[in-house]
Amino acid sequence: MTAPTVRFAPSPTGLLHVGNVRTALINWLFARSEQGCFILRIDDTDTERSTPAYEQAIRDDLTWLGLTWDKTFRQSERFETYDAAAETLKQAGWLYPCYETAEDLDRQRKLQRAQGKPPVYNRTALNLSASDRAQFEADGRKPHWRFKLSGNRVAWDDLVRGEQAIETASLSDPVLIRADGSYLYTLPSCVDDIEAGITHVVRGEDHVTNSGAQIEIFRALGGTAPTMAHTPLLVGADGSGLSKRLGSLGMGTLRDRGIEPLAIISLLAKLGTSDNVEIRDSLEQLAADFDFAKIGRAPARFDEAELTGLNATLVHTLPFDAVRERLDAIAPEAADPAFWDLVRQNCQTVADAEAFVPVAFGQITPVIEAEDQDFIAAAAGLLPDGPIAEDTWTNWTAALKAQTGRKGRALFMPLRRALTGMETGPDVGEMLRLMGRERALQRLS
Ligand code: GLU
Repeated sequence: MTAPTVRFAPSPTGLLHVGNVRTALINWLFARSEQGCFILRIDDTDTERSTPAYEQAIRDDLTWLGLTWDKTFRQSERFETYDAAAETLKQAGWLYPCYETAEDLDRQRKLQRAQGKPPVYNRTALNLSASDRAQFEADGRKPHWRFKLSGNRVAWDDLVRGEQAIETASLSDPVLIRADGSYLYTLPSCVDDIEAGITHVVRGEDHVTNSGAQIEIFRALGGTAPTMAHTPLLVGADGSGLSKRLGSLGMGTLRDRGIEPLAIISLLAKLGTSDNVEIRDSLEQLAADFDFAKIGRAPARFDEAELTGLNATLVHTLPFDAVRERLDAIAPEAADPAFWDLVRQNCQTVADAEAFVPVAFGQITPVIEAEDQDFIAAAAGLLPDGPIAEDTWTNWTAALKAQTGRKGRALFMPLRRALTGMETGPDVGEMLRLMGRERALQRLS
């Protein structure tokens, strides 16, 4: 196979949610797995709803996730090219002007429904004479433009869904240009796919019907349709359709919750595939695993709890270098490899390390139960002189055990509570080394 060229084509009318990110990721992984090219195309033909802020947020989110692109462009910079393509289609009779108002179309659909017919556009506009059109124009009406479908069956071999066929006779001729002259995404997308040499269109299965029409548009433009792959949509953990919650679950929310990009990527790369969901070390590894044949046809269930669990697994193994800056931002003294190695097993997110900073480096309120007061006083008296060394904890607790007769939980829990103010947490002996003798004595007295 020659190296593929693919594109991820978000509209900057909102933030990326997990479903969009999955589409971007599948495109990216496929391109990387075949040494291909990944293009970020900004579908901003809707100049009313698209904003530079959303576009920037999309770029920032993709960059944060590591999904960098080889090329990028905006559709809003290419209107002349689309105008030229539209002109060609008009000349050849593929695009025809329609003057129905929204109310006209609504009435038509109601009538069709009442007659038990499918609500397919009845092509009245194809029969308009030149003078009919002139009359509409004289009345100040502007046409919208529809693409004339062939009425034939359009078939393709989908890389995920297998043999697909759309009967274009069952579809309304799609509107490609609105009455205000603005483009729907359909035509610009085909024009760009041809010009950019897109070999594979990889997108969600909500576009399957569009593909029927777009394959005909590719042909009308003198191109050939790229290979298609339509992936099942993401659904919520309960199996319900892409819930409002998922649809609005943006990368900013996940980032604020302390979810690592690699946890998101690892989950989204494997969801709905025959591979196990697990943390992989890198995007490159995930690319090496990638194969369209592994993607199943059933909807992929996205479970936030699964993401949180994967994230914790990842955090437990993150090397110090990966978190140094974030620890430094919590507290400069926390940017210490010994501290991170000690606390990471107790962190679901990197930010969780903050809870242990006062224990190791600051002030805490020791917890000493009434019945442990003598025991803790004895502990203070037995703490060996000099700096805390590797064997201090073992020697100290052995001496305490010998003197007080306590062992197991009765020996260790009061020490943990007094030294850390907590009932659970990282190894107390290691924590003792970080906090140092003086801090320990203060807490014990
Ligand atoms: N802008 C379109 C969308 O976000 C692109 C669809 C496609 O990939 O062709 O739905």
